[in-house]
Amino acid sequence: MRKPADLATKRHKTRKRSEDPGRLFLRVLSLFVANHTSSRRNKLETQDGLAPSREILFADFMEVIFLGTGTSQGVPMIACACAVCTSTDPRNHRTRASIHVVMDGLHIQVDAAPELRLQCLREKIDWADLFILTHGHADHVTGMDDLRRFCDLLGGNALTVYTTDEGMARVLAIYPYTIMERPVVRGYAAFKLENMPETLELPQGTIQSTLLPHGGVNTLGLIFKERSSGRKFVYYTDCKRVPREAVALAKGADLVVLDGLRPEPHPSHMSIAEAVAVAAEIGAPKTYLTHLTHLSDHAATEAALPPEVRLAYDGLRLTP
Ligand SMILES: [Zn+2]
Ligand SMILES: [Zn+2]
Ligand SMILES: [Zn+2]
Repeated sequence: MRKPADLATKRHKTRKRSEDPGRLFLRVLSLFVANHTSSRRNKLETQDGLAPSREILFADFMEVIFLGTGTSQGVPMIACACAVCTSTDPRNHRTRASIHVVMDGLHIQVDAAPELRLQCLREKIDWADLFILTHGHADHVTGMDDLRRFCDLLGGNALTVYTTDEGMARVLAIYPYTIMERPVVRGYAAFKLENMPETLELPQGTIQSTLLPHGGVNTLGLIFKERSSGRKFVYYTDCKRVPREAVALAKGADLVVLDGLRPEPHPSHMSIAEAVAVAAEIGAPKTYLTHLTHLSDHAATEAALPPEVRLAYDGLRLTP
C-alpha cells in the first residue's frame, strides 16, 4: 500500500514513463530555465537531472493557486442580472471554492468543485499527489469523479483522500464505485479514504488540521508548513467561526485564507466583517477572503477593507 512518504518517488517514476514530444520540449525549456536561475530547484531534478515539465509553471517556494473563490451557487448565479453577475471584471466571475497547494514540489488538491476539470485546465494543473476534502457539501465534493485523471497519472493507482467522518460518508454515498486500490478500468477514479490526522507528516512538510463549525457539519481547517522554507499557510473556508484553538494554530502564518461569504451575517458562514475580525485576531501580514457571493463587487468591497485583508479571485496565485 502506498504511503504519503512514497508519493514523490511514485510521481517521479510515472513522469519518466509518460514523456512525449511536447513534454520533451518543455523539459528542454525547463533545463534552460534551470541553468539561468540560481533559485532552489525541486529535489527530483537533482536525483537524475530531469526537471519535470511543470517545474516551469509553479513557483520555487510554496504556492497557493485559487482554482475557485465562489460560494456554492457560483457567480454569476443562474438567472441573476445584478451588477456583479453581469460585471465585466473577471474577478467577479467566481467558480466554486477550491485551492491547489504546491509544497516543495508536492501537489495537494483541496476540495473538488463542480468545475474541477475546467479549473485544472485553466490553471494548467497537471498533477495531484493527494486530495483533501474539507467537508462533504456539494460544492466541494461534486467534482471528485474528475480526479480520475490524476489516478491515471499516478500509474492507475488510487488517489489518497484525507477527510472527516462526514466527508467519508458523503464520498461513500456518492462514489461507492471508487473505493478500491486500483480503478476497475484504467482511467476510472479510485480513492483510498483516510481520516485526516491532526498532523499529516510528509517529507515536504506538515499539514495540520482543526475542526471549524459550519452549521450542521465541521469543516477541516488546514495549516500547511513547508519544511525547506518554513513558510506557513492557513486555509479556513466554510466556517461560521474560528475557535480559539484554530486561531492559535494559525498564529505566525505568512498567509491566511478565510471564509468571507457576504456583507450580511449567515447562519453557517462568516460575514466579511466577522472574517476581518478573525484576520485581526490571527494577525497575519496578508489575509484573503474566499467563498464569495454575488453581493460583493471585487473592487468596491476591497476598497472598504483594511489593507492587509484582500479578496481572493479565481486564478490568483500566491506565494506565502
Ligand atoms: Zn462551500
Ligand atoms: Zn447576481
Ligand atoms: Zn460548506
